[in-house]
Amino acid sequence: MAESVTKRAFRMYSANNPKYFPICFLEILFEKISPYFNLWMSSEIVSAMYEKRGAGEIYLLAAITLFGNFFVRIGGAVLKRAADAQEKILKDNEAAALNRKTLSLDYDKLENPDIRQHRRKIIENAQINGYGVMHMADDIKTFVQSLVNVLFALVFLGEMFVLAARAPFRPAVYLLFAALAVCLVLKVIFNSLNSRKAAEANMELGNEMLEENRLSQGYYEAEGMDNRIYRQQTLISRIHDMAVRRHYEVFSRVCNGLIIRGMLGTLLSRLSGLCSYLIICYYCTLGVFPVGSVIKYVGCLGWLTENIGNLFQFFGEVRANEPFLRIYLDYFDIKNDMYQGSLAVEKRSDKRFDISFRDVSFRYAGQENLCLKNISLKLKVGERLAVVGENGSGKTTFIKLLCRLYDPSEGEIYMNDFNIRKYDYRQYLNLFSVVFQDYTLLSLPLGNNVSSAAVWDSVKAERLLEEAGFGERYGQMPKGLETPLYKDFDEDGVNLSGGEAQKVALARALYRDAPFIILDEPTAALDPIAEAEIYAKFDEIVGDKTAIYISHRLSSCRFCDKIAVFDRGTIVQVGTHAELLADTGGKYYELWNAQAQYYTKEAER
Ligand code: ADP
Repeated sequence: MAESVTKRAFRMYSANNPKYFPICFLEILFEKISPYFNLWMSSEIVSAMYEKRGAGEIYLLAAITLFGNFFVRIGGAVLKRAADAQEKILKDNEAAALNRKTLSLDYDKLENPDIRQHRRKIIENAQINGYGVMHMADDIKTFVQSLVNVLFALVFLGEMFVLAARAPFRPAVYLLFAALAVCLVLKVIFNSLNSRKAAEANMELGNEMLEENRLSQGYYEAEGMDNRIYRQQTLISRIHDMAVRRHYEVFSRVCNGLIIRGMLGTLLSRLSGLCSYLIICYYCTLGVFPVGSVIKYVGCLGWLTENIGNLFQFFGEVRANEPFLRIYLDYFDIKNDMYQGSLAVEKRSDKRFDISFRDVSFRYAGQENLCLKNISLKLKVGERLAVVGENGSGKTTFIKLLCRLYDPSEGEIYMNDFNIRKYDYRQYLNLFSVVFQDYTLLSLPLGNNVSSAAVWDSVKAERLLEEAGFGERYGQMPKGLETPLYKDFDEDGVNLSGGEAQKVALARALYRDAPFIILDEPTAALDPIAEAEIYAKFDEIVGDKTAIYISHRLSSCRFCDKIAVFDRGTIVQVGTHAELLADTGGKYYELWNAQAQYYTKEAER
């Protein structure tokens, strides 16, 4: 039989910290025994006083109450502290598990808008209305609390049931018992219905508010420079007001019914309490129950009925939370389907890895049009290839296909004699060092960033930082390669400018020492002097590697052996700078002339 959604989610969730639930349940046991113990002892003391059993016994009972309370409280506090600490670990590990899943996804899945939305939904469901795994954990805790309460109440009420059973038959009492049972059943039905409706309302609320929340939050999270310059604070407040108004409208629409049902549930609770009271008092007046037991029986019977209601409500809550858990589990069930290949990549000291694109076309998921169309291109070992074209012409996508972040929709890419899909995926990825336009540096020491590893070769890292033009800035770092980047985890961390960060990213690419080096607009954030330095040293930096250099600035590409000109997803020209410029009707000539104007003006200044 298939495992239920909640059972599977609980198994997965609790595995994030197996210590948490046992400690938490033990704490519940300690927390719940306290009121029963006090009630029991108070009732014993009242009975002792009523029966005039003597001061000695009364003092003894009071002392037992005092010390018993002391030990239960101390034990409870220690367990609570332990449970809180374990809960923190559980939640951190759960967040880490979700992140690990995201990081393990194939890149095409990571960029897929539906999958991104799926992940956001999990996080927002938890943040907006608390549904999902945390709700499940709370439900389970409430269930255990109710169960412990019911068990304690039954134990403490055992004596009452025996006494009541021995009493002569009284129709009025049985009527009250029947009324109590009816209140209880109605309350369970109401509460279960309410839980389901609340979950449905929250699901609706969450779905309706997803976009608004993202929108209004996005403006606050943005760096905010535009907002300051254009004084957009008032406009942003209006967006916020619109979001709040919409939130309120949806909330009122879906939640009004819940409030009325909630009130009915409370009324039924009070009615069942009244029935309990009447039953006990009735038996007391008949002399069936000792007077001192009234407090004990009334309290315990009230808790019993309340918690039987909660026990049943648990099932309603679980059912209501199931759609949220399904969203959670479905995310973990997303399968990577990128073919991983098994062919070992040859370890070649001569770096002879030739690449050929054979009539390759590509379409992004959910897009109608092809992004790349019939791309055919050969790249020989040691070559310097420049990929140029206007923004959006498909240059970066071409690189993503080359690095197998995506597989072609049509056509094939070969490395030496085999389709690149056949090679072991990890080994194939190791062939490339890439500086992407939107690279990420981590909030870790510089050495970790350059080596992409826990340990680093300091001499090599420092040499490459120097080659990448970061030498001067590096000299100002007192802790050298141990200097943390950014201030997320360390106040002594250093913030880098866009240009400096790009140099570190370049050093990281060189550190890998892969046969291919790919630079996607590597000088975009560099100042002209740094850019000139990099160009001058480019051949030296790249050495015998095969290099691909992407740029929309044609002047940066002149030094390359071969230039491929992209236009609206196709390669329209391939040749050297001189060859391409000679074709006065070609795209390269057009782009060059458009940009040459700018360079001439620059030179004149
Ligand atoms: P370039 O690098 O030349 O600026 P890109 O390869 O980044 O061009 O983009 C080519 C086209 O593909 C653009 O129209 C862009 O909007 C689209 N595109 C890029 N990435 C994605 C993506 N992840 N999903 C859908 N479309 C994309």
